[in-house]
Amino acid sequence: LSGGAFYNIRELKRHNRGIKLETLRKVCQESSMDWEKVSDRIRSVGYKERIILRRRRLTAQHAYLLGLLYSTGRVDMKKNSIAFTNASRKLLGHVKTVYKKLFENSRLREYVRGFGLRVCGGEKEVIVLEAYNPVMKKMYEDLVLNHFGLPLNLGWLKRSIVSGFLAGMLDGNGFINLGGRSPEMGFVLKNFEHAKMMLLLLRNLGVLGWLVKTKDGGPFRVVVRSYRSCKSLCKLLYPYSFTKRKKLRILLEKIKKRVDKGMGLDEKPPSFFYTLLSKIMVEDSLPSFDAHYPIMLERYEMLSRNPGTAQALNTVNVSSGCAQGDLLLYGLRVLSDCELVPESIREIEYLDYDGLVYDVTLERAHNFLANGILVKNCCAAWFCPAGTGSGYPKYACRNGPEHGYYNLAIFFYGCNFDCLFCQNWSHKEISTSPQVTVEELVRVTLGNDRITCWCFFGGSPEPHLPFAINASRKILESLKGRRVMRVCFEWNGCGNEGLVKRCGELAFVSGGNIKFDLKAFDPTLSLALSGVKNDRAYRNFSMLFNEFYMERRELPVITATTLLVPGYVDEKEVEGIARFISEHDENIPYSLLIFHPDYMMRDLTITPVSQVKKCLAAAKKYLKNVNLGNVHLLSLAPP
Ligand code: SF4
Ligand code: SF4
Repeated sequence: LSGGAFYNIRELKRHNRGIKLETLRKVCQESSMDWEKVSDRIRSVGYKERIILRRRRLTAQHAYLLGLLYSTGRVDMKKNSIAFTNASRKLLGHVKTVYKKLFENSRLREYVRGFGLRVCGGEKEVIVLEAYNPVMKKMYEDLVLNHFGLPLNLGWLKRSIVSGFLAGMLDGNGFINLGGRSPEMGFVLKNFEHAKMMLLLLRNLGVLGWLVKTKDGGPFRVVVRSYRSCKSLCKLLYPYSFTKRKKLRILLEKIKKRVDKGMGLDEKPPSFFYTLLSKIMVEDSLPSFDAHYPIMLERYEMLSRNPGTAQALNTVNVSSGCAQGDLLLYGLRVLSDCELVPESIREIEYLDYDGLVYDVTLERAHNFLANGILVKNCCAAWFCPAGTGSGYPKYACRNGPEHGYYNLAIFFYGCNFDCLFCQNWSHKEISTSPQVTVEELVRVTLGNDRITCWCFFGGSPEPHLPFAINASRKILESLKGRRVMRVCFEWNGCGNEGLVKRCGELAFVSGGNIKFDLKAFDPTLSLALSGVKNDRAYRNFSMLFNEFYMERRELPVITATTLLVPGYVDEKEVEGIARFISEHDENIPYSLLIFHPDYMMRDLTITPVSQVKKCLAAAKKYLKNVNLGNVHLLSLAPP
């Protein structure tokens, strides 16, 4: 790089200041970088644009008027005119008062529009208040329609200004429903992009919103449904709202009563699955439908962790009395209309693509839909009989990847560790877990000869080992070797030695394996990250090696994984773990997993590429079979 732009960046970096978009654009031009790609990337991580308001000081009242303009008004960019349009004389009276105070020399012209606005109980006149106001137009342009294409660029302004804007939107065409099982309030947005930005804006304020598409491909609604989020939003809007104040007060009182009765305000963040469906709806122009009574996500998740056709159908049926087409319901309908068939990968095609890739997952259920396919990965599939056909015909159904068969993933709630980085922390919500008996588990498996392995994971299976051992014995006894049924465990390894040995035996005889998640080598680091020292995991690893490994060396009965927590689990840790494994056998498979921010470590980045490279090199110094898991995350990782 050369020239002024480069100099600018260096200086800004030195003083730890932000870089202007314009400067970046110039640098891209000078260095022949694709500006489109760079700006896409910036967009994906968020962007703080400076808002120019000339000499005026932006106040919450300006913001209120801008919110109204956005929701029910009009701004003519060419003519520099603005117009507030509404059927409520009360609201427009308030607008006149505020406007007069802010712009003494600007006159609002009032007229009635030729056609009526349909409201409950007939038609109402639509009144317009119009003015020539370049300052207001400029404010609108900078705040709402930022030139970089980020609508609603308000997130970093003072809380009072954001509240003023949202109150304007609420008074304009927002809504508050007090009648339902739980309160509901929200905003109507012009298009999908604006709706997405609104969700982010609300998230910044600690409010979780849901995205709902309205009838006939119309505008989008961002709806806030939980008591906790409604409470936060009410508090923000109450001082500034004019026409909806009374409803806001009633809602706050309702919430207070709930708290007084000792009922909680718990809420669950909307799942990414939900947003994904909205996205699919928009991108593929899928048919629209009424989105009135939303199906509760909890219901879907409680009924079916990994929905099969019957479960999806069941959820749809349970909800059909009240649901008229929520996006999630739509997704479930799609699932229940098609036959869900277990499938595995037949072919991999490599594309010459250099850019962002996305990992789609479903919070809590841990599986995801990819092109209509419901997928779950197993971290040992890169060497086990299911993924490779090793051990065929005794331990695998095919002499290669087992196409057409699948692994029954048994997710246990609860864990004997409390890792700050837990990537499956929904296991802590034990009260929401569905309960399954050993008999049911065995019956389901016997009834489906496409299930060829059980994978106990979670949480971690340690607190449930008696159940797991009992169930595994029953299934193996019932099958009497008539069909392949591998039993595998994915755990932190710190279980009771006697029970661990029995699990090893089950994995050994069935062709399965035991996946040890060796989280850290230094016991103090383990204590800091997981709340316990994990020396027992190392002892159990050695014990299983001594008992079983050498007798089935060609099909390893033990393997290890390590999550590369940025800045904590570095090459030194990995080297220690790899050395420990190699002291047993250098052929034991070892997988390094790339971290993504979760649970208590949401503030970390994805494992940086440099750390991954160093850790891989450290592991390969000692071991022959080293694998890297979650590779897709690398495209989002810092260098
Ligand atoms: S559960 Fe065991 S056999 Fe099945 S895919 Fe995973 S590692 Fe392979
Ligand atoms: S051992 Fe695994 S499941 Fe348990 S808390 Fe740690 S990361 Fe989460």
